[in-house]
Amino acid sequence: MSDTATDRLASVQAELRRAESDGNRENGSVTLIAVSKTFEANDIRPVLGAGQRVFGENRVQEAMGKWPGLREEFEGVELHLIGPLQSNKAKEAVQTFDVIHTVDRQKIAKALKAEMDKQGRDLPCFVQVNTGEEPQKAGISPKETDAFVTFCQNDIRLNIVGLMCIPPVEEAPGPHFALLEEIAKRNSLKQLSMGMSSDYEIAVGFGATHVRVGSAIFGARDYP
Ligand SMILES: *Cc1c(COP(=O)(O)O)cnc(C)c1O
Repeated sequence: MSDTATDRLASVQAELRRAESDGNRENGSVTLIAVSKTFEANDIRPVLGAGQRVFGENRVQEAMGKWPGLREEFEGVELHLIGPLQSNKAKEAVQTFDVIHTVDRQKIAKALKAEMDKQGRDLPCFVQVNTGEEPQKAGISPKETDAFVTFCQNDIRLNIVGLMCIPPVEEAPGPHFALLEEIAKRNSLKQLSMGMSSDYEIAVGFGATHVRVGSAIFGARDYP
C-alpha cells in the first residue's frame, strides 16, 4: 500500500478499472464511493483535491459537521448515506445527503418520503438487504424484499434505484453478492451497492454499480 490517501485512491481506481475490464463491464461504469466516516475535513480535502467527488458517511450528525463546509470549498460533491437511519433523523438526512443506501423498513421509508416532499427533494434510494439474515444487522430479510420494494415504489412512491448489502464478515462474500443481484433482477432494479475495501473487485464481478471503499483509501479507522 502506498502511503498517502491520494496514492491509495489512485490504486483503488486502477484496480476498479481492472475489475471492470475483467468482468466485461464498461470502463468507468462502477461508481467509487469513498467512505470518509471517522475522518476529518483535513483528511478528506486531499482526496477531493485529487478529483474524487462521491463520498459515503454512516452517521447523519457526523456528516452535518463536515460536509456543508467541504461543499462550499469543492463543487459537485455527491454524498451517500450508507449507515442505519432513525426516522427522527430523516429531516437532517434529506438535507445533508444526495443518495440514501439504507432504507429497510416502512417507518423509515415513510419518514424519508415525507421529508423529501417537504423539502422538494427526490433522492435516489437503495433498499438495504440483510443477505446473511444476521439478527444484529440492519436490512430487510431477502424473503421480504420484493414486497417491501413494491410498497416503497407503488404505495409511497419513493425513488428506489437499487439494492445494498453488507455480507457477514466471516463468510465468503460471493454468494451474498449473487443473491443481491438475483433479487435486484427480479425486481427490475438496475443498481447494486456492494463491495468494500476487502472485496470490491469481487463485487464488480457480480454486477456492483457502486462500491463503498473506506480504509483502502483513507487508512485504518480508530473506530468502526
Ligand atoms: C465503513 C463502511 C464501508 C467501508 O468499509 P471499508 O472496509 O473501510 O472499506 C462500506 N460500507 C458501509 C456500510 C460501511 O459502514
